[in-house]
Amino acid sequence: MDQHQQEWNEKVAAKIIKNLEKRRMAGSYTVDAVQAKAEIVDMIPHGATVFRCGSMTAVGMGLWEAIAALPEVKLIDPYLSGLSPEEGLELRRQGMTADVMIASTNAITLDGRLVNLDGMGNRVAAMAFGPKKVILAVGMNKVASDLETAVSRVKHYAAPVNNIRYGLKNPCVETGLCSDCRAPQRICNMWSTIEGHMIKDRIHVKLIGENLGY
Ligand code: SF4
Repeated sequence: MDQHQQEWNEKVAAKIIKNLEKRRMAGSYTVDAVQAKAEIVDMIPHGATVFRCGSMTAVGMGLWEAIAALPEVKLIDPYLSGLSPEEGLELRRQGMTADVMIASTNAITLDGRLVNLDGMGNRVAAMAFGPKKVILAVGMNKVASDLETAVSRVKHYAAPVNNIRYGLKNPCVETGLCSDCRAPQRICNMWSTIEGHMIKDRIHVKLIGENLGY
């Protein structure tokens, strides 16, 4: 990312962090993913249970490997290979009472709202309530000017790309565009807009000056 983009990232991230604070959420900005990974790992308390939620941002950062390597930290990982669907569901249930949840957000608005769309709902549910701490790793590519733009970004970009990634037989995989299908394997079932939180700083948004995830 060139110097001018970095400058834009820093200015916009500062504005978003101020707005997150007004909503009783915490935010911080880090220029690159390598440093952000180290800072996120440092936020995890010794002996914590950590719930892994679906996030290509975290995958791209190598975050899960870093957390799995931490002694005294138990990673609740429903994405382990070889799990049956029932085992995956059970781990998702366990994750709801983890000490820490880590994910990204599908979009973040300039005024500090977090916009997400889930298929199963475990990620948006845990973001709202359950784990004591929520850490979200968010590339600056996910910044949207307002709520309408955020919803559009999620519906018309993030969701179709995720469908393509999963290799699902939904219409958006063919066209690249959402047709608001009613397919049984539709991954767009639960919208969540987090406007703030009663538990101050439970949610920490780590903004990162790179394009990460979808
Ligand atoms: S609603 Fe259906 S068509 Fe639209 S993005 Fe989701 S899965 Fe694809």
